[in-house]
Amino acid sequence: AKAKGRNTYHFYSQELNAAANERLFIENELRIALKEKQFVVHYQPQVDSRNQKVIGYEALLRWFHPTEGLIPPDKFIPIAEATGLIVELGEWVLQESCDFAVRLSEQGLENNISINLSARQFKDSNLVPTLSKMIIRSGVSAKRLHLELTESMLMGNVEAAITQLHELKALGISISIDDFGTGYSSLSYLKRFPVDILKIDRSFVKDIPDDTNDMEITAAIIAMAQKLKLDVVAEGVETIEQMQFLQNNNCFIVQGYYYSPPIPEYDLPNLYEKLNEL
Ligand code: C2E
Ligand code: CA
Ligand code: CA
Ligand code: CA
Repeated sequence: AKAKGRNTYHFYSQELNAAANERLFIENELRIALKEKQFVVHYQPQVDSRNQKVIGYEALLRWFHPTEGLIPPDKFIPIAEATGLIVELGEWVLQESCDFAVRLSEQGLENNISINLSARQFKDSNLVPTLSKMIIRSGVSAKRLHLELTESMLMGNVEAAITQLHELKALGISISIDDFGTGYSSLSYLKRFPVDILKIDRSFVKDIPDDTNDMEITAAIIAMAQKLKLDVVAEGVETIEQMQFLQNNNCFIVQGYYYSPPIPEYDLPNLYEKLNEL
């Protein structure tokens, strides 16, 4: 039994080591990646299901590592967050997104761009001045910028969060609550935050039309958003049934593989062609 215990321990520590090594590897590589421009932003359209028109895009970060290939955000965002590198990386995403928005305007397209903000970025006192400079430098209209925050980012220090939100709103930016319904925020809190958009989390959408509970929750979130005069976007919409269910319940802006995965900017012509054929 002793020998077995030792083996188990040995095994466990090896696994721990492997995880720690991977973390360390990613942390080191992240610093290099920032310098060597290994990141790209992909854009996923948010489509009005009534007319197949693109309303906006969500900016989603991609890391193409020279030897590891594509490293998904779930693997590196938490490490970037823990090390503070997310602030620099996040600024780069904001910059790219502003420039993308301006290139769209040059083609006569006034789409919104939604950008994910990490907790660290949101708390950073430099966020508002940095954004303000970026808006001026790029010439983007601030009302086209939507920042996606999660409920947990607002729940820690509520007063500070409200102040920060008001300052962001004063720039003209809109605020989205990402992954709505998965956090712990109560409705009474929601009313206190100056937010504009709720994004219904994919976990509620993915089992429509099989899970009647999820359908009721989704319909309730949409109804509540309407009462609070918030826009609502559904994420992770993969099938026509899901799109139609949402439409029947008055949620018209949808994002998901049904219309398009996140794509590089050079794929936009293909997206327009595909939407035209629907
Ligand atoms: P998120 O903000 O909830 O983004 C939605 C995720 O769902 C994206 O994963 C997207 O590719 C994926 N998705 C979209 N439509 C569908 C669908 O129909 N079905 C399925 N199964 N998935 C769909 P991705 O790109 O891997 O990003 C994962 C997470 O990483 C994001 O979740 C976000 O929290 C974070 N992230 C990505 N880019 C950034 C960034 O620039 N900054 C920060 N702070 N976080 C980011
Ligand atoms: Ca998001
Ligand atoms: Ca989301
Ligand atoms: Ca999500």
